[in-house]
Amino acid sequence: MKKVALIIFLLSINFSVFSQLANNNLPEEDYWETQLTPMVEVNDMLRHIYSDPFKEDYINFIPAGYPLNKEVNINSFYGFRNHPVHKVSLFHRGIDLKGATGEKAIATGDGDVIDVGFKVDLGNYIKIKHCYGFESIYGHLNKISVKKGQHVKRMQVIGEVGATGTVTGPHLHYTLKKNNQYIDPFDFLFMDFERGKISMLNK
Ligand SMILES: [Zn+2]
Repeated sequence: MKKVALIIFLLSINFSVFSQLANNNLPEEDYWETQLTPMVEVNDMLRHIYSDPFKEDYINFIPAGYPLNKEVNINSFYGFRNHPVHKVSLFHRGIDLKGATGEKAIATGDGDVIDVGFKVDLGNYIKIKHCYGFESIYGHLNKISVKKGQHVKRMQVIGEVGATGTVTGPHLHYTLKKNNQYIDPFDFLFMDFERGKISMLNK
């Protein structure tokens, strides 16, 4: 009888480890799911994120920080601009970051690769679906190192900067979407409340 109890005990340990892995180690009490998921206004999201004393427990599950393995410099902001190639005013649905061909592009949060491919305006691109309705897109890549359906971790190398698609030179185009709407990635790029933990981004 003791043996049976031990086996049941061991199975229950295994099961809890497995179920933790299955939900990617999300905090047990995932109130971000009910609170952050419906939000589409950047200011509402920022207020929610920054005011949570337990934000460090959730940071890996949203796109936050640099998509490059270095300090970032912005070439072009989100919003209307004169397109450098098309020479007309177009809405830029992301931020362009300075980068040289071959530099590592990294995932800004844990998630699943939902699409990889080539589009004229994006070049070689990767789309990652994160928690709470977030999606991150990395464009003009020279190389794609992940496959559709693959789970990626925050700061994992996913590809290399390049100049594919309609561009004047190599850079990383970085887009964020929330509940299928484009949002300005700026405040998420510089979300640094746990910068101490991101040793890779510190010099
Ligand atoms: Zn761009």
